Amino acid sequence: MCNELEHLPHRDASGRRNFLKMAGAATALGFASGGVFTGRAHADALTRAQRDSMTPEQIIEAMKKGNKRFRMGVRKNRNYLNEQKASAAGQYPAAVLLTCIDSRAPAEVIMDLGIGDIFNCRVAGNVENNDILGSMEFACKLAGAKVVLVMGHTACGAIKGAIDDAELGNLTGLLARIKPAVQATTYAGERSAKNYHFVDAVAHKNVEMTVAAIRKDSPVLAELEAKGAIKITGAIYNLETGAVEFFG
Ligand SMILES: [Zn+2]
Repeated sequence: MCNELEHLPHRDASGRRNFLKMAGAATALGFASGGVFTGRAHADALTRAQRDSMTPEQIIEAMKKGNKRFRMGVRKNRNYLNEQKASAAGQYPAAVLLTCIDSRAPAEVIMDLGIGDIFNCRVAGNVENNDILGSMEFACKLAGAKVVLVMGHTACGAIKGAIDDAELGNLTGLLARIKPAVQATTYAGERSAKNYHFVDAVAHKNVEMTVAAIRKDSPVLAELEAKGAIKITGAIYNLETGAVEFFG
């Protein structure tokens, strides 16, 4: 554990106090278990046994801890080359995410995840369609992922575009998938893209509706969830605070 902390970017000659503080927080941040996900002994990629030993709730907890590390400016002392080599022969990701293409919301970075940890479907506005559902069904039914996480974010340009009825080539059709969330959002104030509170309320509703649509449109995933094999849930990433707020 100390070896990992010694390589953290915030430790320097003047950072003794900071180092001690971080060492104290190590358990809470998930370092004590040795890795991003419970039971991992070192920086290599997840094995099937490690992934299969975790419950969906434990996987979500590990992602929450990873986001805490990100917000504290620390990160797991990972070696991407080791992860690349360890995962080359096979992958056992713990979760499949549906996230926005926004350059400021890279799930692996903001939750301190590595190569082989998650599948990540990215599309503007994190909306589902048959291809996304097919990807998720592959991830969970065939590859063994145990969490489906739809993660929207604050100040989302796609949400703003849907509110504004923006039209551009193929983007028009994509934004049409978000518009039901605009209409379904209960909001007493100004319903415009200039009102960030409304934009974020729609983003929240859009995640809720996408989670519901995944259950409805994918009997494969719904059955896995009914059996307790997977958990389907949502989250919102706050661009200003760096926090990922999980719905459950
Ligand atoms: Zn976005």
